[in-house]
Amino acid sequence: MDRIKMTTPLVEMDGDEMTRVMWQMIKDELILPFVDLKSEYYDLGLLSRNDTDDQVTVDAANANRKYGVAVKCATITPNRQRMEEYPQLKQMWKSPNATIRSIMDGTVFRAPILISRIRPVVRSWEAPITIARHAYGDIYKAAEMVTDVPGEAKLVFTGDDGSEKSIPVQRVEGPAVWQGQHNLDSSITSFAESCFGYALSTGQDLWFSTKDTISKTYDGRFREIFEKLYEEKYKDEFEKKGITFFYTLIDDAVARVIRSKGGFIWACKNYDGDVMSDMVSTAFGSIAMMTSVLVSPEGNYEYEAAHGTVTRHYYRYLKGEKTSSNPVATIFAWTGALRKRGELDGLTDLSEFADRLEKACFDTMESGIVTRDLTLLMEDTDGVTAVDTETFIKTVRSRI
Ligand code: NAP
Ligand code: MG
Repeated sequence: MDRIKMTTPLVEMDGDEMTRVMWQMIKDELILPFVDLKSEYYDLGLLSRNDTDDQVTVDAANANRKYGVAVKCATITPNRQRMEEYPQLKQMWKSPNATIRSIMDGTVFRAPILISRIRPVVRSWEAPITIARHAYGDIYKAAEMVTDVPGEAKLVFTGDDGSEKSIPVQRVEGPAVWQGQHNLDSSITSFAESCFGYALSTGQDLWFSTKDTISKTYDGRFREIFEKLYEEKYKDEFEKKGITFFYTLIDDAVARVIRSKGGFIWACKNYDGDVMSDMVSTAFGSIAMMTSVLVSPEGNYEYEAAHGTVTRHYYRYLKGEKTSSNPVATIFAWTGALRKRGELDGLTDLSEFADRLEKACFDTMESGIVTRDLTLLMEDTDGVTAVDTETFIKTVRSRI
C-alpha cells in the first residue's frame, strides 16, 4: 500500500510512563503503516528534560510556533515524591505544559469524545461542550494577606512615570482577609483571539461569560475586549460561517449550559474554567475520553489528551501485566494534529485518514470492544468486552 505523504513536519512531543508506552503502540499500529510520517521529534520524557536542563521543552514549543501543529504525549510534572523516585533530577522542573503554554501564549480547549453507550449525566447533552479556560491571572496570581487590627485598605498603583492611582477598598473594625488580583489587556486579548479563531476553525458557536454586573470594571474589561475584537475583526467571518458569538452572565450561562444540547465552545475566566471544566468533563464521562488542544492567537495548535501519564497502570505494566489503559484520547490527539496538518497543507488524503482513524475508534467502541474504564460508566454492558490496550489498538487497526 502507498503510504500517505506529508509536506510539512508535525512536531512530535514524546512523554512519560503509560502514555509513552501507548504512544509507541499508536505510532506502530495506527499511524506508520498508513502515513509516511514526517515529524520533528522532541523527547519531553522527564529524564530527557533533565538531561537538557529543560531546553528540549523550550525547543519543542518554538518548533510548534515555527511549523504550526504539534502532538504531545502526557508528561510527568515533578513534585516532591517524584524527586525521591528519580534521584538524578537536577531540580523540580516546571510543568512542560505551563512552559509551552507561556511560550505560545495559548488557550486550552477541552472537549469530550462521546459514544452512544455512555450517556452524559445531563440527559439533554447530545454533542460535546468545549471549555476554553483563560489561563492567566485573577486569583491564580493574586496577592493575599490577613490583618488583625481596625483600619483601612487601599488599592494603590504606582506608575513607572511617577503617576499614582489609588482607591479605598474597605474600612474594617476587626480582623480581616484581603486579596489583590490583576489581569493584562494583552493576555485577555490573546485569549479572545484564540477563542474566536478556534470557533471559526471548528464551526461552533462561542459563548463567553463573566460577572460584569457586579464586577463592572474588572470583568467589564474582559467583556469590552471580547466585544470590541468581535465587532472589529471577527463579526463578518462569523456571519459568513453561520456561527454566533454570545455573551451572558456566568450564572445565566450555567443554567443555559445545563439545558442545552451541547455543540458549542464556552469561554471562561480562569477560575470559572478551572471549576466548570471538571464539572463538564465528569458529567460527560471519563477523563480518559477528554481531548485537549492548545491554540495560540497566531493560530498554532498543540493537540494532546487531557489525562496524565496513568502512573498506576504503568507500575503494573512494568511488572509485566497487560493493562487496560484507554488510548482513545491520545489517538484523537494524533488525528487532531494530522487533520490540521492536512488542512493547512491542502492534503485531503491526510485529513481523510484522520477521519477514518477516528471512525475506526468509534466503530470499535460502539461494537462493544472497549477498555475497562469505559465499562464502569455504562448502564448496560450487554455484549461489551473489556480488553487490554494492545488488543483494543489492534482491533482499531483492523477496522481502518
Ligand atoms: P492521570 O494520569 O490522569 O491518572 C489518574 C487516574 O485516572 C488513573 O490512575 C486512572 O484511574 C484514570 N485514568 C486516566 N487516564 C486514563 C486512561 N487513559 N485510561 C484508563 N484510566 C485512566 O492523573 P495523575 O495520576 O494525577 O497523574 C499522573 C502523572 O501525570 C503525574 O506525574 C502528573 O504530573 C502527570 N499529568 C500530566 C498531564 C499532561 O501532561 N497533560 C496532565 C495531568 C497529569 P485508575 O488507576 O483507577 O484506573
Ligand atoms: Mg480544576
